[in-house]
Amino acid sequence: MPYRAPTADFQFIFDNIVGLEQTYATEKFAEATPDVVEAILLEAGKLCDDVIAPLNRIGDLEPARLENGVVRTSTGFAQGYAAIADGGWIGAAASEEFGGMGLPFAVLTAVNDMMSGACLALQLNPLLTQGQIEALEHHASDTIKALYLPKLISGEWSGTMNLTESAAGSDVGALSTKAVSMGDGEYAITGEKIYISWADNDFTQNVCHLVLARLPDAPAGTRGISLFMVPKLIPDENGVPGIANTLKVVSLEHKTGLHGSPTAVLSFDGAKGWIVGQENGGMKAMFTMMNNARLGVAVEGIGVAEAAFQHALAYAVERKQGRTPVEGGSGAIVEHADVRRMLATMKSQVFAARSIALSCAVAIDMGNATGEADWRDRAAFLTPISKAYGTDVGIEVSTMGVQVHGGMGYVEETGAGQFTRDVRVTAIYEGTNGIQAMDLVARKMMDGGDAAFRLLEEVENNAESARGQFPQMAGAVWASAETLREATEWLVSQDDMSDRFSGAVPFLKAFALVLGSHAHLKAAMAEEGEGPRTRLARFYVKRLLPEHVALLQHVREGKKDLFAITAEDLGA
Ligand SMILES: Cc1cc2nc3c(=O)[nH]c(=O)nc-3n(C[C@H](O)[C@H](O)[C@H](O)COP(=O)(O)OP(=O)(O)OC[C@H]3O[C@@H](n4cnc5c(N)ncnc54)[C@H](O)[C@@H]3O)c2cc1C
Repeated sequence: MPYRAPTADFQFIFDNIVGLEQTYATEKFAEATPDVVEAILLEAGKLCDDVIAPLNRIGDLEPARLENGVVRTSTGFAQGYAAIADGGWIGAAASEEFGGMGLPFAVLTAVNDMMSGACLALQLNPLLTQGQIEALEHHASDTIKALYLPKLISGEWSGTMNLTESAAGSDVGALSTKAVSMGDGEYAITGEKIYISWADNDFTQNVCHLVLARLPDAPAGTRGISLFMVPKLIPDENGVPGIANTLKVVSLEHKTGLHGSPTAVLSFDGAKGWIVGQENGGMKAMFTMMNNARLGVAVEGIGVAEAAFQHALAYAVERKQGRTPVEGGSGAIVEHADVRRMLATMKSQVFAARSIALSCAVAIDMGNATGEADWRDRAAFLTPISKAYGTDVGIEVSTMGVQVHGGMGYVEETGAGQFTRDVRVTAIYEGTNGIQAMDLVARKMMDGGDAAFRLLEEVENNAESARGQFPQMAGAVWASAETLREATEWLVSQDDMSDRFSGAVPFLKAFALVLGSHAHLKAAMAEEGEGPRTRLARFYVKRLLPEHVALLQHVREGKKDLFAITAEDLGA
C-alpha cells in the first residue's frame, strides 16, 4: 500500500493540540498565516506521496555504494533530492536573508515527519543540512555565513555532522581529531570519524562537513572541543567549489537497515577547515545543531511509525483468516480483537508522540520569537522526551506492523520488515535514548523540576476543564499527572545521580504517556460529539496510560538493587 502523508492530522494537531496560532501572533512568524501553512502541508504531502515514497523500497534493495572512493547513491535518489531542494524544503525554516522561507520550525517538523514516512534514508540528508544551517546561522562568522548558507539553503551543497570516532561515541569529549591553526583563521584538521551519515553523494556540488576537533593544549573533555567547517571542495570567494580538500571516504558500513543512506568512515589528512564559533566552544555550537537534529530524529521515528501503521492497516482489512466475531463483517483480520488492539495501539501512539514532538517544536519557535525563558525551558525539557518516545514508538509500531502481517511481515517483499530495520537506528543516533533519559533527569532538572511541574500543571488544568464532558478520562489523566508529580519530587530530591539514572528511561516513558494522554484528551474535547478521536483517546487513556504506575515504581527504586547485581551475577 502506498504511503499517504497524513496532512489532515498535522492540521488538527496544529489547530487543537499544540496551538500553532501562537506563532502567527509573533512578529517573527507573522507571514506564516493559516492559509500558508495549510498550502505548505498539502504541497509537501503531495511531494512525499508522488515522488519520495516510491524511492523507499529502491533504497533498501539498492544500497549506496563506494566506487573508487566516490559514493554512488541508489537509483532515483538524485531526482528525489532535487525535488526536495527545488521545493525549497531544505531551507523552509531558515532565515530569509540567505534564501530561506523563514517558516516556523513546527511546520518544518511536520514536513520532516512526512518525508521520513515516505523515505527515511533520503530524508536524513536534508535533515543534516538543516541542522548545519541552524548551527551556522547562530555561530559562524559573517564570511562563512555569506559563503555557505545560500548554497546549503538552496540544496546545491549538503551538510554533515562529524562527532563520532571509534573511541568517542556517547562520550564525545573523548575525541582525538586534531586541529592546528595555520593563521588567517584557517586550520589543518587531521583524524578519522566513523558512522558519518551522507558523508558523500553524487548529486550535490559540494559536501560541507562540520567537524569537532581538538586544538593543541585544549582542556580535556568537552570543554576542549572546537567546531570547524571542512568542505569537500574548497570554494573560492564567489562560492564556486574548486580544489579538492584532503579528506576521503574510507569505507561504507553494511547496516541492518537504512541502506539508501551512506554511512561512512571519513578520514581527514591536514584538511583545510575554518572555525565556527569560539576556540574550545565547539560543543555549544554543535548543540544548536544537535537539538534541531534531535527533534528531526524524533519525527523520523514517528514518520516511519505512520508509514508502518498505514501498511499494516491496509493488509488487515484485506487478509481473511479464521472466523471473526463481527456478525455480517468482512471476515478480514482487522475484525479479530488482538489485531484491532495492535492497530489501535499503533495509531494512538503515533498521535501521542506526534503531538509531543510538535508541542516541542512550537515551544522552540516561541522561544526564538519571544526570547522568553519559559518557552526555552519548555522546549529544552520536551526535546529528550520527544526524541526518545518518538523513536521508541517508531520501533514498537513498526514491529507491531510486522506482527499484524503474520508470516508476510517476515517476508521482505511486503516491505513491513524494512520499516523495523530502517527505524531501529533512530533510538541510537543523535544521543542514544538512554542518554536522552539521563539528560532529562539531570541537566533538564537542574531547575529543581520547574519546567516539569509547569507542564504537569497544564495537564491537570486541562483535565479539570474536561471533567464535565469526560469524567472518567479526565479523572485518569489528572490522577496520572499527580502520581508523576510525586515521582518527580522524589527524583529531584536525589542528589546521587546514579539514583536518578537508574530509573531515567522508565521516568521518561511515564512522562511521555502522561503528555500523550493529555494530547488525546484535548483531541476528544475538540471533537464534536463522540467520534473517532474520542474513541482513540479512550483506548490510550484506559489501556496504555496505566503503565505509568509500574514505570514510576521502577523509578523510585533508585540504584541500590540494580548495582547489587554484579556483572558476574549476569554471567560475565
Ligand atoms: C547509521 C548510523 C548513522 C550515524 N550517523 C552519524 C553522523 O552522521 N555523525 C556522527 O557524528 N555520528 C553518527 N552516528 C553515531 C551515533 O551517534 C553513535 O553510534 C551514538 O552516539 C552511540 O555511540 P556508540 O555507537 O559509540 O555507542 P556507545 O557510546 O559505546 O554506547 C553503547 C551503549 O552504552 C550506553 N552508554 C554509553 N555511555 C553511557 C553513559 N554515560 N551512561 C549510560 N549509558 C551509556 C549507550 O546508551 C548504549 O546503549 C551514526 C550511527 C549510526 C549507527
